[in-house]
Order: sequence, then structure tokens, then C-alpha cells
Amino acid sequence: AGAGAGGGGTRFDLEKETELRFEVEAGEKVQLELLTGLAEVFGSELNRNKKYTFPPGSKIAVFTWQGCSVSLSGKTEVAYVSKDTPMLLYLNTHAALEQMRRQAERDNERGPRVMVVGPTDVGKSTVCRLLLSYAVRLGRRPTLVELDVGQSGVSVPGTMSALCIERPADVEEGYSVQAPLVYHFGSTTPGTNIKLYNKLTSCLAEVFSQRCEVNRKASVGGCIINTCGWVKGSGYQALVHCASAFQVDVVLVLDQERLYNELKRDLPHFVRVVLLPKSGGVVERSKDCRREARDDKIREYFYGFRGVSFYPHAFDVRFSDVRIYKIGAPSIPDSCLPLGMSQDDTQLKLVPVTPGRDLTHHVLSVSCADEGEEVAGGVRRGLLESPVCGFIVVTNVDTQAQVMTVLSPAPRPLPRHTLLIMDIRFIDLK
Ligand code: ADP
Repeated sequence: AGAGAGGGGTRFDLEKETELRFEVEAGEKVQLELLTGLAEVFGSELNRNKKYTFPPGSKIAVFTWQGCSVSLSGKTEVAYVSKDTPMLLYLNTHAALEQMRRQAERDNERGPRVMVVGPTDVGKSTVCRLLLSYAVRLGRRPTLVELDVGQSGVSVPGTMSALCIERPADVEEGYSVQAPLVYHFGSTTPGTNIKLYNKLTSCLAEVFSQRCEVNRKASVGGCIINTCGWVKGSGYQALVHCASAFQVDVVLVLDQERLYNELKRDLPHFVRVVLLPKSGGVVERSKDCRREARDDKIREYFYGFRGVSFYPHAFDVRFSDVRIYKIGAPSIPDSCLPLGMSQDDTQLKLVPVTPGRDLTHHVLSVSCADEGEEVAGGVRRGLLESPVCGFIVVTNVDTQAQVMTVLSPAPRPLPRHTLLIMDIRFIDLK
């Protein structure tokens, strides 16, 4: 690290294969500029003499393969250079995956399907982003499968999604999210409804496989699956389920030998399970920090991000114009279940809900489900497996007038009339 001004900031001279790590203080922002050499942020290259701005709370690493100097201006909580990074191992992993893609191309087979696993805060999302960016920089079209319902890099929390990656993530803004395929899960932990979680994992796997059958580039590109940090009990079972649903070829285990050994034991022998160290730069995030990140993600959905402002709409929706469901009936003791019914059925049951005051602030998914699919009893086939076309937030419920006020990215009317309730709430302070 070095002092001295570069564009008014602090200048850092980085040797090759080192990284500058910094965290932006609360309420502040930090500008980064590449002065000389080459550098990247989580796999996306920096342009020379362009100022990149990072908002409060950002935790960033600027890595250089060749050496570079950068300048930082604004208040950082920490900023230091580290020589000790696992980047070379990550690059080798990428090289091995690229080898598999080349072989797939040659032999007319499918490219690698990779699952990234590990406890929370080991840099899973970062490794996914890195591998995707490196692949796309070589002209590949890999798919990101986002199964982390707590901290989704693709859509709002409480969703599971898939996104075809066509360009490296933007240094400041992350993935450009065009037409992701998004499913409603409804909560920030898989444990809330593990049956649904597994079902949606299977759904995504099926859609991805179908796409691979008709799109050669997608097939060769393969996929990188980001998972939740819950790696015990049903959380572990969900990983095993995911591996089989996607027929993964490679599992990258970050930082946990126990998990690595368990997966080696439980997955078929042809699955390559690889243990990788986590980066010392990965910062542990508190519960509050996570909650804030989730809130930000929802706010961004409605109000936009940085330079791009959206102007959401508020309007009334009559109860009679929509059908609102919650997925999963409260579980009851096995002995009380009606004959022939299992707990699985209750977890996947669609329960019609009449809006009450307690619906206020809840996020609702607007389902793409075909509206004509209703069957007797209000149970709708295909609804669980239907993707979502958008989200609204209930800002007020008037039970007397039988209307609710909603915040919506688009003006009225709602594009569809089937709404699914999330456990997640968003308080709109604007
Ligand atoms: P996980 O997906 O396992 O929960 P993330 O990939 O989201 O973990 O990483 C946690 C945080 O650490 C993120 O804010 C990310 O930007 C940051 N981070 C990751 N790698 C580094 C690094 N090498 N230096 C500094 N911060 C990092």
C-alpha cells in the first residue's frame, strides 16, 4: 500500500496476484479508479480512468494478475492489500471447467453443471460470480442458478431463479438482470418449507435441461448453482437433492471439510467433489446486515438502483379482482391428518387467503400462472410450478371497503390476478 494522491484519493500500488480489500463505511460512498495496469473486481475487468462508485456497506476486492495501481477516495472502514488469496485456485477451477466445456463442444455433449456449497459467509456468491464472469469473458453462455433464498443475486429475497449470463457482472451493479426465470418460494430460509424448496429446485433443473436441449450454447456453457448456507439436516438433504436434480458434475465445497467428506460419501462416484479454501477477504455479515441487504434488494426492485430511478405506482386492488394464496397449510400432527394425506401434501397445499390488516407490508408475488386453470376446491394445478412475473407490496388493507392498496412497478391493472404471499415484509418509507 502506498500514500500519495491519485485523482484526489489514496493511491495503492498492487503487485501481481495481490488484492486490495476495502469496506465502505455506513452512510458513505467510495470511489475507485484504476490508474495503471490491469485489475478486476470479482472477475469483471476495470476500465482505466473510470470512476467506480460503491455504496455504504460494500465489501470489495480489487484483484490484479499483472500488477496495477488504483486510487480510492471516500471513507473506508478498512482498506488493505493482501498477498494471500485463493484466486489462483479459483482460476484453476475455472480452467478445469473450461476444459470440460471444450470437451463437451467436441463430443457433442453437455457442459459442466457446478454446484457451489458451504456455510454462510464463505464467499459462495462471489465464487459463482467469478466463475461466471471468467466463462462469459471466453464467450461462453453459462447459466446462474440462484437457490439462495436469503440473499439472491438475481431477484428479490424469497425467490429461486435462473439467469442466462451474457456478459460479465457490472463492477458496480452486478448482473444485468434481463428476463430471469423466477419462482416464488416465499421466505428467506429453505427450512420454512423444505418440500417446496426441493420442488422448485427440481422445476428449475427441468427448465434448464429443456433449454439445453434446444440451445447448444446454453448446454455447453453449463450452469453454476449458488446454494444456501444451511448445510445440516434437511439443508444438507436439499443439497443432495439439488445435485441429483441438476445431475451436477462438479461440487465446489468452500471451507468445510466435514461437508466435503459427507458429499463425497453421499454423491455418486462420478461427481467430482472439490474442497476449496475461502478467501480471507470474505467478511462475515451480521443478522442486521443481512436484513438490510434484503431490504435494499426489494427497494431496488421498486425504486431502481444508483443512477437509474424507477417510479413505482400505488393503486387500489379490489379483493374480488384477485386470488391470494399462501403456500403450505400449518402442519398438524400426523395422527390428525385426513386419511390418505401426508405432511408433504400440507406443505405444498395452496391455501386461499382473504386479506386482513395483517397482510399490510407483505411482499406478494404475481404469478404468471394461466388464469384458466382453476379446478374444484380452489386448488390450482400448476400454480406452484409457474414462474413469477413481478412483485407488489401491500401498503394498506381496507377490510370495510374490501380493497387493498399496493405498491407496484407498473401502473394498474395488475398483469395477472393470482397472488402468492411471502413471509417477507417491506416497509415503504418513501
Ligand atoms: P456467501 O455467498 O457465502 O454468503 P458472499 O460471496 O456473499 O458469501 O461474500 C460475503 C461478502 O464478502 C460479500 O459482501 C462480498 O462482497 C465480500 N467478499 C467476498 N470476497 C471478498 C474479498 N476477497 N475481499 C473483500 N470482500 C470480499
